[in-house]
Amino acid sequence: MIAALPPALAEAGADVRLVLPGFTALLDAFALNDIARLRTPFAEERVRIALARAPERGVALYLVDHPAFYDRPGTPYQTPDGGEWGDNHRRFALLGWAAAALAQGADPNWRPQILHCHDWHAGLAPAYLRAANAAVPSVFTVHNLAYQGFFPAGAFGDLALPANFFSINGIEYYGGLSFLKAGLYYADRLTTVSPTYAREIQTPDFGMNIDGLLRTRANALSGILNGVDPDIWSPEKDALLPRRYGVASAGRGKSAARAELARRFALAGGDELLYGAVTRLTWQKGMDLLLAALPGLVAAGGKLVLLGSGDGGLEAGFNAAAQAHAGQVGIEIGYDEALSHLIVAGSDAILVPSRFEPCGLTQLYALRYGALPVVRRTGGLADTVVDSNAVTLADGSATGFAFDDGTPEGLLSGVQRAAELWGDKAAWRRVMRQAMTRDFGWEAAARQYLALYDELAAA
Ligand code: ADP
Repeated sequence: MIAALPPALAEAGADVRLVLPGFTALLDAFALNDIARLRTPFAEERVRIALARAPERGVALYLVDHPAFYDRPGTPYQTPDGGEWGDNHRRFALLGWAAAALAQGADPNWRPQILHCHDWHAGLAPAYLRAANAAVPSVFTVHNLAYQGFFPAGAFGDLALPANFFSINGIEYYGGLSFLKAGLYYADRLTTVSPTYAREIQTPDFGMNIDGLLRTRANALSGILNGVDPDIWSPEKDALLPRRYGVASAGRGKSAARAELARRFALAGGDELLYGAVTRLTWQKGMDLLLAALPGLVAAGGKLVLLGSGDGGLEAGFNAAAQAHAGQVGIEIGYDEALSHLIVAGSDAILVPSRFEPCGLTQLYALRYGALPVVRRTGGLADTVVDSNAVTLADGSATGFAFDDGTPEGLLSGVQRAAELWGDKAAWRRVMRQAMTRDFGWEAAARQYLALYDELAAA
């Protein structure tokens, strides 16, 4: 989203800049101009703020250059063996602090009217603005409420916030502190990435123990759907496919991708409905439900190819299922961008049985690529997939299948209805056409964010 939304905002007329930690790969990738060297509460030495311009898309980036925090192996968040860095609270406090400093004029040549913060890593920025009584309003976007940036109470002393911010009316959270809660409490407006998820997180079932605060902020909270980046996800120009296709050539394009999948996963011949899944293997994604439903899916005449990684037990379970159903089920454990495109193109339907889903991207790709999504009716899945039923099939709005129960039986009910429609090829093709022509570009999202910024700037 951080790669795609800013160019769409710029296109819509906003002057937008990103603030990111100065990870080595970013510092190496761009020509940099020094903007400022700031004294911060987090280091003896000054921290350099460098400005880079992303050449392809023309959006400028401020990089917070502090090698002691950001020049490390592993992912941006974790150690090479998957653990948390012991000073993550300081690493991401600096990010929020620097963003708040930029919002207050740390760059003498550019000053924003709005600070828009994403997820817990940026959650302290609104708190620093509040602590400084700064006039710049802030927006805080929750991409996934399950990741809360929780730290023990002892971490508070490292954050350079006023003592009274460590409070239930502040960043205190169940005896510790939460960067996510800081964002939810101090930002002027809150958004999440779909309207349904914005409603769901105000309830105990989805609220991850913070629904109480979200209910008190209901008037400040709204949902704006993510878009799809058409340069990466368009079957018409996707260089990762054996044969590109549009709506009219979908049959041939999808057959070519399917043939490659069949070779790669040694699938048996035949025109059974081929389901695909590209996903983290986690509880959130309902992959245990899929594993339990797999014998039923195969018995209903379906095949499955799945690409994913995550939970060790699920990885082992899917590998065992692939052996038990050789020729019908193909599994690849790992992360593979190219294979993910091939699966979305070559599958007839994509399974997304998530227990909760803030927005979800795979179902959006699937729609574009004519793989009908079979989804649990939750979050962004509920907002983007139109269930096929008598009414939506008749009025031509159907684009996939949605089921309610987060159980193997619930998932199988969706699979069963997909199998029934598969029996009527003309009807299937009509739904596929409708799915492929739905518009999920970033323009609509950019318009809604701009409207929100305008409202705030005018307030
Ligand atoms: P989440 O961010 O919760 O994992 P989303 O559906 O919003 O779920 O986005 C996940 C993205 O990661 C999608 O673009 C999906 O295709 C991709 N993805 C997930 N797992 C893999 C994998 N094993 N290999 C390649 N891409 C993957």
